[in-house]
Amino acid sequence: MAGKRTFTMIKPDAMEAGNAGAIIKMIQEAGFKISAMKMTKLSEETAGQFYAVHKERPFYKDLTTYMSSGPIIAMILEKDNAVEDFRKLIGATNPADAAEGTIRKLFAKSIEANAVHGSDADDTALNEGNFFFAKTEQF
Ligand code: GDP
Repeated sequence: MAGKRTFTMIKPDAMEAGNAGAIIKMIQEAGFKISAMKMTKLSEETAGQFYAVHKERPFYKDLTTYMSSGPIIAMILEKDNAVEDFRKLIGATNPADAAEGTIRKLFAKSIEANAVHGSDADDTALNEGNFFFAKTEQF
C-alpha cells in the first residue's frame, strides 16, 4: 500500500522570488496536510549529505552550491498516495518538460533551480523527513 507521507523543500530560487506562499497554497489546495514545517539554510556540507545519492553525477557540486545559496522551507506532507500525487503536482524535473499547471511549470527557473523538491519513494520520504525534523516536530 502506498504511504501517506512525502517530504518537500521550497528551494532557494522560489524563496528568493517570493513564491513560497503561492506554492504552499497550491500544496494545501491539492489536499496535502502539513505535518512538519521549518525555514532553514543548508550548509554546502548538509546539502551534500542530503543529495549524497547524486554524488557521482556531473551536476552534484553545482547542486550543493545552489541548494546552500539561500534559505529553504522544508515540509513533511500527508495525504493518501502522497509520494506519487506530490510528484504529479510538482511536474517533471526540467520545467521545460513539466505539465501545464504544475508547480515547476509555474515557478521553476531551470532544471537545477526548479522551485521544489519532492521525494521519489516512500522510504526516501521517511528518511528525508527524519533528516530535517525530530520526532517531536512531526505532527
Ligand atoms: P527530482 O527528483 O525531480 O528532484 O530530480 P533528481 O532526483 O534527478 O535530481 C535532484 C535535483 O538535482 C533536481 O531537482 C535538480 O535541482 C538537480 N538536477 C537534476 N538534473 C540536473 C541536471 O542535469 N543539471 C543540473 N545542474 N541540476 C540537475
